[in-house]
Amino acid sequence: MATTQQHIEAYWMPFTANRDFKKKPRIITGAAGHYYTTADGRKVYDSFSGLWTSGLGHCHPKIVAAVQAQVARLDYCMGFQAGSDVAFRLADKLVAMAPAGMGHCFFTNSGSESVDSALKMALAYHRVRGDANRTRLIGRERGYHGVNFGGLSVGGIAGNRKMFSASMIPGVDHIRHTYDLKHSSFVRGQPTWGAHLAEDLERLVALHDASNIAACIVEPVAGSTGILPPPAGYLERLREICTRHGILLIFDEVITAFGRIGEAFGAQRLGVTPDIITTAKGLTNGVIPMGAVIVRDEIHDAFMQGPEHAIELFHGYTYSGHPVAAAAGLAALEIYPEEGIFEQARSLEGRFEQALHSFAGHKHVIDVRNFGLMGAIEMAPRDGAPGQRGMETHKTCFWDEDLVVRHGMDTLQFSPFLNSRPEDIDMTFEKVRRVLDRID
Ligand code: PLP
Repeated sequence: MATTQQHIEAYWMPFTANRDFKKKPRIITGAAGHYYTTADGRKVYDSFSGLWTSGLGHCHPKIVAAVQAQVARLDYCMGFQAGSDVAFRLADKLVAMAPAGMGHCFFTNSGSESVDSALKMALAYHRVRGDANRTRLIGRERGYHGVNFGGLSVGGIAGNRKMFSASMIPGVDHIRHTYDLKHSSFVRGQPTWGAHLAEDLERLVALHDASNIAACIVEPVAGSTGILPPPAGYLERLREICTRHGILLIFDEVITAFGRIGEAFGAQRLGVTPDIITTAKGLTNGVIPMGAVIVRDEIHDAFMQGPEHAIELFHGYTYSGHPVAAAAGLAALEIYPEEGIFEQARSLEGRFEQALHSFAGHKHVIDVRNFGLMGAIEMAPRDGAPGQRGMETHKTCFWDEDLVVRHGMDTLQFSPFLNSRPEDIDMTFEKVRRVLDRID
């Protein structure tokens, strides 16, 4: 059915310029593989794999079949004091892919819920061990950890925070972000400058005393802020400081897990193991909302005390471990190795990096950054109209080049399908170049 103007008004869209969008809506009605179908009958190429979600392509037949079979077999069952067979199978499979020693996971329905669950687990962990003073949480400037109050509070993107400034959770500090235009612009992969910025955590330890700090959360590669790869040695130092002071290190891998940087988890690619990992997105290839928090065994085991009939952690969602989502997750986690997806993603990295960095020197471009299959082209803002050039690029790509490109303000972000062909990468950036050459 065609979407008429009357159908457009009711939906208050997330993270969208609603009034602008509704003047000329970009409506998607279908998807297959690497393409969307639009309401006006065009096939448009998706250069962002959904919203970092769908690395295997849209409507993967194995996931579609798994979801269809599951919804007819067990559509829902309560997850409190009961659980579906598929949720247990998914948990096994997920922890088998995780770094050694992280043998337990908790299911959520989104990245935001994974983050808030992880923060609560960190606080509760210290408390059950009798270390209840450890209540402070440390985030990082420019971090994105979703939109719920915990994630928002440890997050570091001003635009997301400013309306809620007075209502953030208490006891949160931020370490400095790792980006410096002078030292790390147009760097390919991890900058060599900046490992010392991890020492900023020591500043907060000196201020508050480690005995009051519960956890530090970072994205291994910051995504939504516009792709900031960690400086070489930075995460190692952060790990070392956290270990020395008994602070839990949380990696928010909502984007970086499941092949986006060439391994099951960013922790594995970057060689640093945190205490807690948060995930969502690629867990089900975006097909059904689901997230997971994966924890080190000691964290889980610390809760397993007291009377056996008592609930150990008063936390959970009606849809934690939802059977249909779990079926989608199981299928996705099977496809990653069956189709050699992580290897394919890694094999594309060179081509992707080359294509991105060919924009260095373009009239609008002030920086290019990349790691794994995450990439950003940062454009200078127009005078007095920050974000407008990015928006115009997005819209021109959609209407004139049949290409979906994501932008955050004036930074174009790219997240190609993990199973792209090299020519898909070339085609994407040829289209982007035509648009950037044309707009002011
Ligand atoms: N954490 C990170 C690192 C993210 O990139 C995102 C979303 O992009 C989230 C958390 C929030 O996930 P969701 O939108 O599923 O709540």
